[in-house]
Order: sequence, then C-alpha cells, then structure tokens
Amino acid sequence: MKTMTCNQFGGACSLEFRASTFEAIAELSKQHGMEMHKTQDARPRSPSGHAEDG
Ligand SMILES: [Zn+2]
Repeated sequence: MKTMTCNQFGGACSLEFRASTFEAIAELSKQHGMEMHKTQDARPRSPSGHAEDG
C-alpha cells in the first residue's frame, strides 16, 4: 500500500491518497484535482458584490 498527498502531486491541499500502486494513486489525485480544484479561479462572490478580505 502506498500513500501520497495532494501536495506531493502539486495540489493545493494535504489530502492523503492510498492505493496499492502509484498509478492508482495518481488516478485518485487526478480525480480529486478535477473535483476539488477546478473551481479555484471561480471564487465565490458575496451577494453584495464587495469582498473586504481580499
Ligand atoms: Zn487537493
């Protein structure tokens, strides 16, 4: 069993992936990346249109 983190794949979080092969982990990471980080550019906007915590 191998364990790698999202960070190790260049991701933005430290979620751990566990699988028996590197290829399986890489696939998990890829799917996670598509699910979790695909909206990074589309940051949620407040209804008021003003975000003060830039
Ligand atoms: Zn991640």
